[in-house]
Amino acid sequence: MGSTGESRQPFEPFRIKVVEAIPNPSPERREAALVRAGYNLFGLLSDEIRVDLLTDSGTSAMSDRQWAGLQTGDESYAGSRNFTHFEAVAREITGFPHILPAHQGRAAENLLFSAMVQPGMIVPNNMHFDTTQAHVRHKGGIPQNLAISEAYDPRSEHPFKGDVNLERLQALLDGPDRPRIPLVMVTITNNTGGGQPVSLTNLTAVSAICQAHHVPLYLDMCRWAENAYFIKEREPGMSGLSIGEIGHRIFALADGATMSAKKDGLVNIGGFVATRDAELFDRLKELLILYEGFPTYGGLARRDLEAMAIGLREAMEFDYLAYRVGQVRYLAERLEARGVPIFRPVGGHGVYLDVTRFLDHMDPKELPGQALVVEIYREGGIRTVEIGSIMFGDSEDGSHPPLELVRLAIPRRVYTSSHMEYVAECVGRVYARRKSVRGLRMTHSPERLRHFTARFAPL
Ligand SMILES: *Cc1c(COP(=O)(O)O)cnc(C)c1O
Repeated sequence: MGSTGESRQPFEPFRIKVVEAIPNPSPERREAALVRAGYNLFGLLSDEIRVDLLTDSGTSAMSDRQWAGLQTGDESYAGSRNFTHFEAVAREITGFPHILPAHQGRAAENLLFSAMVQPGMIVPNNMHFDTTQAHVRHKGGIPQNLAISEAYDPRSEHPFKGDVNLERLQALLDGPDRPRIPLVMVTITNNTGGGQPVSLTNLTAVSAICQAHHVPLYLDMCRWAENAYFIKEREPGMSGLSIGEIGHRIFALADGATMSAKKDGLVNIGGFVATRDAELFDRLKELLILYEGFPTYGGLARRDLEAMAIGLREAMEFDYLAYRVGQVRYLAERLEARGVPIFRPVGGHGVYLDVTRFLDHMDPKELPGQALVVEIYREGGIRTVEIGSIMFGDSEDGSHPPLELVRLAIPRRVYTSSHMEYVAECVGRVYARRKSVRGLRMTHSPERLRHFTARFAPL
């Protein structure tokens, strides 16, 4: 069922109890929406969208148990029993003793970097995600990406393309910049680089290098359960371990983590920051009270903490993960059957189109990634997102140009195989008429996180 059967539909390990109608905007309505939104799909209304693959963040369907958990919200300002439950689950999964809730991942990043990063400091990562990079910069820091070179090759079948380039990390920490490095981060899975996993072997080596240089190692653990699933599937000696056991091995290598529970927490809002460092914890707590709220709610309703506690556990169930990764692979296979070039191997939370091959007739100046996003919406009302030179164009350290990708992120437990089939058909049709796709130019470019609010016009 699903997990390994190539091109077979994944078995959804749930029944549907509540349904939400899907809009069917006409081609004319879609065209008008594009003009109004300045050809930026972040500006669309959900009523203008047929299948929404913009993000897997906060778009999950909650389970009956999570909805029931909301009803048990204990809305005490301090000492809520929902916090006690959440804290126990987060501690059990990660082994980190100090847990602070936050309203989402970037809030956790804000706390951690506010406490650790000062102007001129360098933060290495396999690849920063957009908000992570923006928060490092916001503190005056310099984000540095140290992924292995295979990570930048859409055709490489390397099983762990999220791995850190150990030679570069070692050289950086051996070099004159060492005093300017307050922490090392590793993103599991690597969202910017195609949702690719990091191997336990690589993390073990990263951890040893960090320890030898007395630099703390923090994980961006948004998709840790999906990463653990890949480790179980691909790494020698790991197949007999549970997702939880693999998680324990992962987290034992780190000093702390930031988490967006909007991903592998199966909630619509929530996150946390975790650490082993009691002194840092005290500083984080002060910042938390300043920015988010009291440490037993961290910017959330207490009922949200209950849904998060339950969702964190559900996201590590093997049958769920087999279905989850299986559904992403199913879409990839349906696309490849139509000749559509995608980033290989298929990642954990979405299919990433290889724009450079998809629109090989277009000049990078014509913004092919955004042009493709617009065309896929035009074709079938499907919302996707550019992960390329618009999101990251101004940000790389020069050793690699940014990957030109369009991400089809799959919300968790939301769409069925029929929806995936529809998406593959529409993208396949765009591929068949790809020479007709017109380029764009940017007419408004904000300074930070510009992809969210930029505007474009057809060439
Ligand atoms: C989503 C995400 C974040 C930020 O989390 P939010 O909940 O969206 O603020 C950070 N890192 C990675 C890898 C992510 O995917």
